[in-house]
Amino acid sequence: MRTLVTGGAGFIGSHLSDYLLAQGDQVTVLDDLSTGSVQNIAHNLMDPRFHFHEGSILDAETVHTLVSGADRVFHLAAAVGVKLIVEHPLTSLRTNIHGTESVLDACTAYKRTLLLASTSEIYGKNEADSLNEESDRILGSALKSRWSYAAAKGIDESFAHAYWQEFGLEVAIVRLFNTVGPRQTGRYGMVVPNLVGQALRGEPLTVFGDGHQTRCFSYVGDIVPALSRVIETPSALGQAFNLGGAHEISIIDLAARIIDLTGSTSTIKLVPYENAYAAGYEDMRRRVPDNSKANALIGFVPRTGIDEIIVAVADALFSKASLDNDIMVQASALRASTVAGHEPVASAAH
Ligand code: UDP
Repeated sequence: MRTLVTGGAGFIGSHLSDYLLAQGDQVTVLDDLSTGSVQNIAHNLMDPRFHFHEGSILDAETVHTLVSGADRVFHLAAAVGVKLIVEHPLTSLRTNIHGTESVLDACTAYKRTLLLASTSEIYGKNEADSLNEESDRILGSALKSRWSYAAAKGIDESFAHAYWQEFGLEVAIVRLFNTVGPRQTGRYGMVVPNLVGQALRGEPLTVFGDGHQTRCFSYVGDIVPALSRVIETPSALGQAFNLGGAHEISIIDLAARIIDLTGSTSTIKLVPYENAYAAGYEDMRRRVPDNSKANALIGFVPRTGIDEIIVAVADALFSKASLDNDIMVQASALRASTVAGHEPVASAAH
């Protein structure tokens, strides 16, 4: 199988590429390295079944060429990360709307099956106990960049659905809820790598607002096989599926758990939202997925708990730090983690 992964040098895309190569696919990655990095795919560059093409999904000619040479497409390329979105709203809108349109066009032209990665952001401020795929979207002002990201992703879904309805494009949509794991960077605002990095450096953990907002974090290792199974299931076509974590946790509790598991001497610092982000940011208090549709389709169950996720992220940051020598890790403060199935965080340095 020849598979194209747009955004394949990013956090989720690079894990997906690893998974697909392990399944025997030939993998082509299209990535403009805006938030992705060569480091994420460096271990695959010598593999003859792996091809990296540096370029943008906004370049329709490139997209058409690469789609024509593939049997199927995973479209993960997007402007992501709250910080990036609110600081660069125009680029984000263009990438997320026009870039997706060019992928949809090419997949229609060459009759390729497509998996479109969407996001739980599209539910906006809906604080339901359990968001299912039919749940209403409650968005704030269109002039706030955060909501324009949610709107753009919503348009992508509507576009995909219309291509399916009108042109018979084989497309399935997944809505990812706070996927985390190794290789995710805190640079664009993502809370888990950000707080784990702060804990490892002995800095205060910056918890925005009152910290009582909640999320259900899912582990990239649980999500990637699900992406592959969804695109391989014909009854998924023309539909959207939530893929999220099983347990709800507040950000303040997350921070406390991170300090505990890394053995850090850090404290927690509450930061008012207005000091955390540029104008155009508004938080959502709660976001809880109903995964039952994906469970019925492919047996999806998010198995990895938050403790294991924290340890995996800490392990990865710790090894990277010792390689890059770019952060001062409080090695002596780190204590052995008791989380089953993982080496103690500190051992990753040796
Ligand atoms: N957050 C935080 N400290 C940080 C980064 C994020 O308290 O250093 C908060 C953020 O305000 C939000 C939650 O953590 O309430 C999740 O943020 P993230 O950007 O990871 O995901 P999203 O908001 O898209 O769910």
